[in-house]
Amino acid sequence: MFPSKTQKPLVEVRGLSVDMPLAGGKDGLRIVDNIDFSIAVGERVALVGESGSGKSVTARAVMRLDPVARLSGKIDFEGRDLLTLSEKEMRHYRGSSIAMVFQDPMSFLDPLMTIGDQVAETLRIRGIGRVEARKRALSVLDELGVDRAAERLGSYPHEFSGGMRQRVVLAMALVGEPKLLIADEPTTALDVRVQDQVLDLLDDVSTRRGLAVLFITHDLGVVAGFAERVMVMYSGRIVEDGDVHAVFKDPKHPYTRGLIRAVPRIDQDLEELYAIPGAPPAPMARPAGCPFNPRCSDAFDRCRAELPAVLPVTGERVACHLHDRKGA
Ligand code: SF4
Repeated sequence: MFPSKTQKPLVEVRGLSVDMPLAGGKDGLRIVDNIDFSIAVGERVALVGESGSGKSVTARAVMRLDPVARLSGKIDFEGRDLLTLSEKEMRHYRGSSIAMVFQDPMSFLDPLMTIGDQVAETLRIRGIGRVEARKRALSVLDELGVDRAAERLGSYPHEFSGGMRQRVVLAMALVGEPKLLIADEPTTALDVRVQDQVLDLLDDVSTRRGLAVLFITHDLGVVAGFAERVMVMYSGRIVEDGDVHAVFKDPKHPYTRGLIRAVPRIDQDLEELYAIPGAPPAPMARPAGCPFNPRCSDAFDRCRAELPAVLPVTGERVACHLHDRKGA
């Protein structure tokens, strides 16, 4: 089921660890710790967890965007291990096979370049002529519902609203016709109405193009309507991975249960809002055993001594001693 048996894997990540070098020190700081996951062709997968869980570092590792990060393991994309490619080969994959959109479109857009030139640039750097690149830029802006796209090719980012800017950034990502789109908190900076529009748009475009999406968010509330599968990350590890409806209906990991409980409901008073007690550990201060144990109301002795393995549990993968047959 990871990915579903009927779907062909597009990307398979095996034993991926990401270490960030420390100033003056030999050993790096382990941010992502030995994770496995797959994404099928056209599959929509959400990667959720609080800030600092390692979600964005994982996404950037798939694109190999952090030159100082030390990556180990395997990232197999359509049969080629991205970790063995030269930087020149990797540049070919970025944009044409895998593309990424970020949270704050304004920081991604060049305020001095027109929208048309910015969307076309992804193609221009691949040697596509100006006229053809502009034609494709217009077509993708149209597809993404940018009003009067032909007239607005000559407009600048500040002339667009927040939601329209996110569409432009999406157009820049999609113009190269990637097979996997990594969307890192793409709706976080937007108001709820625009957030829904962007999610609908991602939904449409992914269905129409057969585009796989890795959707990164700290907000489980936006996941249920969009993703088919959800992976929950805590302290650099994937602690639960399963069908989105199954996970929402019956979360197996205490951390997932806490995240679901913390999603605000319309019928809820502000005073009733739940928050998981405590905060995630810094990578240099992970507790022994299960990293969630200081915050977990189900923790028992074994949790403070032994890191739980990721094990299959009724069609999901879960890293929690409560679900290990060896038990307590
Ligand atoms: Fe809680 Fe123990 Fe499970 Fe960790 S392994 S989530 S501490 S019950």
